[in-house]
Amino acid sequence: VSYLIASSLEEALVSLKESSGRARVVAGATDLFLQELPAIFIDLSRLPELTRIDCRDGIFSVGAAVTHTEAAGDVRVKENAAALSEASSLIGSPQVRNIATVGGNVVNAAPAADAAVALVALGARAVLIDLEGKMREEAVENLYAGYNRSLIDSSSEILIRLLFDQCALGEGSAFIRFAARNSLSLPMVNAAARVKVSKGRLEKVRLVAAPVKPAPTRLQNAEAMLTGKKAGEIKWSEIEAAAAADAEVRGSLLRCSEQYRRHLVGVLSARVVKKAVERAMNGEVIPGE
Ligand SMILES: Cc1cc2nc3c(=O)[nH]c(=O)nc-3n(C[C@H](O)[C@H](O)[C@H](O)COP(=O)(O)OP(=O)(O)OC[C@H]3O[C@@H](n4cnc5c(N)ncnc54)[C@H](O)[C@@H]3O)c2cc1C
Repeated sequence: VSYLIASSLEEALVSLKESSGRARVVAGATDLFLQELPAIFIDLSRLPELTRIDCRDGIFSVGAAVTHTEAAGDVRVKENAAALSEASSLIGSPQVRNIATVGGNVVNAAPAADAAVALVALGARAVLIDLEGKMREEAVENLYAGYNRSLIDSSSEILIRLLFDQCALGEGSAFIRFAARNSLSLPMVNAAARVKVSKGRLEKVRLVAAPVKPAPTRLQNAEAMLTGKKAGEIKWSEIEAAAAADAEVRGSLLRCSEQYRRHLVGVLSARVVKKAVERAMNGEVIPGE
C-alpha cells in the first residue's frame, strides 16, 4: 500500500490520473479505513484550498477537508449556519472530530451522516473537479446513488468545497439528533431545518430528516404545511404527524424499530423547525401546542 500526502491539488489530480483507478483520495480516513482499502491513498488533508472556511458576500465556502472540530468551532458558522456547527459538534467523539472531515461525511454517503443532513437543509452545493481539471457544481442531495453509495467516484473526482448562503436577517437554522449515547453513537434519527421568517410568517422552509431514504431527504409535505403559517399559530402535533407520514423508514436491529424511528422523525422534525424559527425571530419563544 502506498500513501501519498498531496501538497497541491494539481499533484493530487496527476497522481489520481497516473494510478488508473487504483488510488482513492482520503482525508481523515475514519470511514475509508473501515472499508476495502485501495492500493494507493492520496491524502488531501493538507491542501490549502480544501482546508479553509470563507464567508464572502453572504456565501459560505467550507473546504471539503475542514474537520468537524473546525466547522463546529468557527464563530461565523455558529452564528450564520448553526445547523452545520451543531451537526459537526455531535459527530463521534473529540478524537474523531479532530481528523474526520465535512467532505468525507458527504462522500461516504451514509444516509444519516450528520453534517450531510445539515448541509442539505442549508441548501449546500458541492464543487467538484475531475481528472481533466473540469469543475462542476451539484446540490448535495443529488450526490447519492443508494445506501452508502455516492455518485462521487473518489478514484476520479475530488470534492473541493461546499457552498451555501449564510442565514441572513430573518433566517435561522438548527440541527438535532437522538442517539443511544451522547458520544460515539450513530443517530437513530437526526433532523435539520432552515427557515426564513417574514413579518412573523414562515416564508421558506427546508426540513430534512434521516435516515428516511438512502439520501438525506426533505420532508416536502411537512414543509408545505409550514410554509405561509404564522409562527405562533403552528399546530406542532400536526407537523409531527405530517413529517412521520412523509418518512420511509427502516428498522435496525442495532438502533431501533421502524415504528420508534417513525415516531422520532415526527418529534425531531417539529422540534428542529421550532428551534430554527426561534433563531430566525431573534430568540423569541414560539408557543407550543
Ligand atoms: C468511532 C466513529 C464514530 C463516528 N461517529 C459518527 C457520527 O456520530 N456521525 C456521523 O455522521 N459520522 C460518524 N462517523 C463517520 C465518519 O467519522 C464521518 O463520516 C467523517 O466525516 C468522514 O470523514 P473522513 O475525513 O474521515 O473521511 P474518509 O474516511 O477520509 O473518506 C470517506 C470517503 O470519502 C472520500 N473522500 C474524502 N474526502 C474526499 C474529497 N475531498 N473528494 C472526494 N472524495 C473524498 C474517501 O475516498 C472515502 O470514500 C464516525 C466514525 C467513527 C470511526
